[in-house]
Amino acid sequence: AQLATIIDGKAIAQSIQRELKEEIEQITAAYGRVPGLAVVIVGERKDSQTYVRMKRKACAEVGIKSINVDLPENVSQAELLDTVLELNADPTVDGILVQLPLPKHVHEEMILNAISIEKDVDGFHPLNIGKLSMKGREPLFVPCTPKGCTELLVRSGITIAKKRAVVVGRSNIVGMPVAMLLIKLDATVTIVHSHTPNPESIVKEADIVIAAAGQAQLIKADWIKPGAVVIDVGTNPVSDSSKKLGYKIVGDVHFEEARKVAGWITPVPGGVGPMTIAMLLRNTVDSAKRTLSKSSA
Ligand code: NDP
Repeated sequence: AQLATIIDGKAIAQSIQRELKEEIEQITAAYGRVPGLAVVIVGERKDSQTYVRMKRKACAEVGIKSINVDLPENVSQAELLDTVLELNADPTVDGILVQLPLPKHVHEEMILNAISIEKDVDGFHPLNIGKLSMKGREPLFVPCTPKGCTELLVRSGITIAKKRAVVVGRSNIVGMPVAMLLIKLDATVTIVHSHTPNPESIVKEADIVIAAAGQAQLIKADWIKPGAVVIDVGTNPVSDSSKKLGYKIVGDVHFEEARKVAGWITPVPGGVGPMTIAMLLRNTVDSAKRTLSKSSA
């Protein structure tokens, strides 16, 4: 049987970064400053440090100034809040990203609510999420991973409108917003989560599957409708003694099996991950353009 077409997220993200680099050169020539992204990290979690390093490196590659704020694990709620408020007031900062999760003693909701909605490049402010969920309203920013998923579809020439989409997972950062975004783009959407009986029979109805459960290889070939598009958001470490670090990363989909049934599929790594970063850069550039065109009007 024919194997699914692989959607190369890494290559698509690279071409987006090339486009952004050109746009940034134009912005800089027109307004005399580069877009700025504040990347705030609290504590020393290895995974968070890796993500933050990748985000800062990507900024440098396209010509965004990254404002690096590294705070200790024991930073107080008040100090972190002050940091956010300072960045809100700083005219050279177009976007503010606070890497999650925050330490337990910090009130995450309060910190995210304090980020100016005009600089909320992660798109997690309740006002931006609310507008994403409402008909006739446009959020200032759409969360990066959800936007990365739909951008992969659009750039692969896959139509979203009128399709049946099933999202596996309902988290605030992936499952719920990607479902809202797909509805905005005129798909018919079902969400399944950990309390859904027989999720496999629901997933099997999908023309488009978005897997964001955080469960290694949960979704098997027999969950998938032949020819369906499978976007795998999951990044799950599983032990692998043949690897230098002793583990490898797998998705929420059993890739090798599923590609025998699906029409299109994203690999892990190299699918959604690079797109999340590309969309963060996209949101930052959009923010800079919005601010600069307003201030010169
Ligand atoms: P969460 O753990 O916050 O949410 C997981 C969701 O999946 C929950 O809604 C949960 O249901 C649901 N779920 C768990 N088990 C099952 C199951 N067996 N069947 C159906 N639904 C289930 O994870 P995130 O949303 O933050 O992340 C999901 C995955 O995506 C992770 O692997 C994460 O590492 C990855 N990720 C990747 C990114 C990227 O850029 N590539 C960015 C962000 C995340 P319930 O609500 O009932 O608990």
